[in-house]
Amino acid sequence: MSEVKKAQTASPGEDTIFGKISRGEVPCKFIYEDNQCMAFNDMSPQAPVHFLVIPRKPIPKIEDATEEDEQLLGHMLFVAKKVAMQQGLENGYRLVINNGKDGAQSVYHIHIHVMGGRQMGWPPG
Ligand code: AMP
Repeated sequence: MSEVKKAQTASPGEDTIFGKISRGEVPCKFIYEDNQCMAFNDMSPQAPVHFLVIPRKPIPKIEDATEEDEQLLGHMLFVAKKVAMQQGLENGYRLVINNGKDGAQSVYHIHIHVMGGRQMGWPPG
């Protein structure tokens, strides 16, 4: 099923694969981990480098973030750029946060996509 199709059927509010990964219930090779978030490679990469940064806190989507999540969101962005450098993306990269159905979000545990290693186009589909 395409990611856009998945986004039409995904249900916000349910436990997700990323919730299970963040709690250690599903094995996953992390490329970065700290007490607030972790990063791992996307299983369906859209670029030579494509990893995700997810928080341990199960915020379903960015729209659900509250003021108390401000520091966490900033931290995730900082981790995204730090790990991008570690992954060799000195030439640039793209950060994406899909939100809700029209945003084509398919996993309702907030995550930042980090993609690089090729020239990106604009506008995105
Ligand atoms: P989104 O459509 O923004 O919700 O993105 C979800 C992303 O999670 C997609 O790019 C999927 O390929 C990726 N994904 C789903 N399950 C896993 C998993 N178990 N491990 C790594 N990536 C995953």
